[in-house]
Amino acid sequence: MTQTCYFFGVDYYPEHWPESRWLVDARMMGEAKFNVVRLAEFSWCKLEPKPGVYDFSWLDDALNVLEGHGLKAVLGTPTAAPPPWLVKMHPDILPVDYRGHPMPPVARRHYCPNNPNYRRATERVVRALAEHYKGDERVLGYQVDNELSMGDEYCYCEHCVNLFRGWLRGKYGGLEELNRAYGTVFWSQEYGDWSEVHPPTPPFDLCNRSLALDWFRFKSKSLVDYLELQVKILKSISPEKFVTTNLPGALHSSVDCFEMGYKLDFMSWDCYPRFAGGSEPASTSLQHDAARVMSGGGRFWVMELQAGPTDGYFSYPIGLSPEPGELRKWAYQALARGAEGILYFNWRTIHFGKEQFWHGILNHDGEVNRRYLEVKKLGRELENVMRELEGSSFESEVAVMFSHESLWATLIEKGYYHVDYYSQISTTYRELWKLGINVDVIPPNVELSKYKIVFTPFLYLTSKDLTSKIKEYVSNGGVVVATARTSVKDEHNNVYVTGLPGGLTDLFGIRVTDYTPVPPTAQANVEVQGLKVPAQAWLEELQPSTADVIGLHEYSWLKAKPAVTLNKYGKGYALYVGSFFTPRLAQEVVKLALKLNQVKPPVEVEGDSVEVASREKGDYKFLFLINHEAVERKVALKLPQASEAKSLLSSSVWVGREFTVTLGPHGVEILKLVTDAQA
Ligand SMILES: [Zn+2]
Repeated sequence: MTQTCYFFGVDYYPEHWPESRWLVDARMMGEAKFNVVRLAEFSWCKLEPKPGVYDFSWLDDALNVLEGHGLKAVLGTPTAAPPPWLVKMHPDILPVDYRGHPMPPVARRHYCPNNPNYRRATERVVRALAEHYKGDERVLGYQVDNELSMGDEYCYCEHCVNLFRGWLRGKYGGLEELNRAYGTVFWSQEYGDWSEVHPPTPPFDLCNRSLALDWFRFKSKSLVDYLELQVKILKSISPEKFVTTNLPGALHSSVDCFEMGYKLDFMSWDCYPRFAGGSEPASTSLQHDAARVMSGGGRFWVMELQAGPTDGYFSYPIGLSPEPGELRKWAYQALARGAEGILYFNWRTIHFGKEQFWHGILNHDGEVNRRYLEVKKLGRELENVMRELEGSSFESEVAVMFSHESLWATLIEKGYYHVDYYSQISTTYRELWKLGINVDVIPPNVELSKYKIVFTPFLYLTSKDLTSKIKEYVSNGGVVVATARTSVKDEHNNVYVTGLPGGLTDLFGIRVTDYTPVPPTAQANVEVQGLKVPAQAWLEELQPSTADVIGLHEYSWLKAKPAVTLNKYGKGYALYVGSFFTPRLAQEVVKLALKLNQVKPPVEVEGDSVEVASREKGDYKFLFLINHEAVERKVALKLPQASEAKSLLSSSVWVGREFTVTLGPHGVEILKLVTDAQA
């Protein structure tokens, strides 16, 4: 999928500032070459100040001012923050926690997505917004709600409980089927009437596993349905305007983000690399690589990109200020991975309400500052860069599978393993990222045949459909790589009784015959092809049937027993690792897997490590080099198929297959590679 347009801008709250300031803001945004702003996402009390009384005049005025400086808008539907009059009129819209207490309406997200009164109020305000801006070219599209999500403690209101029972009835047909699927004979839980079924409550590991997983599915579906309610209204009124939503993290646990993505023109996510203590750069890239896949169309936006120190939240400290060069670097990191729109959050730091220290580009005083000047310079630079990149695409031969159902199954058993699901995904991803291999982060239900290698770390939960699909993929020449605790559970979150990995013993040519957790204090190693590397958390004894043993355990009673196996299956290979990944173990296994199906990085990099990603356009390749350190880096490159490289950011040209590129602190380079045929 090619990306053909780009949007660069900021999230703006004109309702927070006097109208007399809007013109100054719009002028400064225009000078930074912004072309888009997101507006109105928390403005319900301004859009509908009284029930059924709408006022779009202030938003129209703001749009006019912004349009005068070349800015179009994405409008947020305001439903993440119901106004006080609505709560007063329908107190039952408040989500109810598992102890029966309604959420106090003192912050935001104080609504139940299944509440009929809230859904009707949503329909009305979304319809009014869409009707008002129908045919208005100042508005490019809509963002549904804001960071749609729900905590574990919600929602146990009567609507949710009844809908859950109805949903189960639709899924299982009869109670007999449900009792069988759930194994309710355990602890005398056999249901005789639907009204006897109660949602599980935290801590979920005390509850029936099947019931708990269905509850996670139901809650996710509730959020997706609520999003779809809005999407349908917006699309029925303005089919030409795009509809997206902004995830609080691209792989957030409270909703199946991929399922949500399919309802949208593209997915967006909110990216704060230096929130609180900060996160590693690979984690940001991983989320870009997931968001791009989510709508099925290869498009995504970063709807909120960190612009300054983040506020404290839930006892997290105020975040680090972006160092000089980081605002630019983060934008290029997103662009490298295919982002079509990048908006900083937000324009100017607010001095009242919550988020008084969630800094925008401008500080509280609204004056030109270091961050504004950096963004302004970037805006000008991007104009040239995007002309070159237009029509390019991000192509991947390698995928890492992310299964929300496996995530939920492991969250239900939180703390059972000494690693969590996210860490196994990120440890796998990081090793590919370090090599500059383009990766798609995919859900289990996508077509696998386009990939040469699919990594399925900690794929705890599978179904017959999924195991058949993985087998077919490998049989046709694919390579699959699995870790310990793969296919332990079936779709009801019950353990397979046919031997582990469930439904995949023939694919991997092994059977897991024994296992043991490894406490964090104990040292376990695995020997892979003559190299001793650390293993962790969980070790499995593998009994090969058809697989070759390529690694052995070095731990206690497992010493010298098979730890890593490789099985030829049809035209492909299935690699199984009887441990959770440590970074070193993942590194060795990734190298092995890449060799099996001849996947090579776009460029050989020597010297200091930097992030490498590539985009393609016809016969050209664009190579992004990103330095995530605050010190200069020298990178020696070996190009396999090109003899010349031109910079998109300067007039530099490198000739030959081997040369060195110097990147300043947090520096970026984009090379347009001229292949031998074109030279
Ligand atoms: Zn509810």
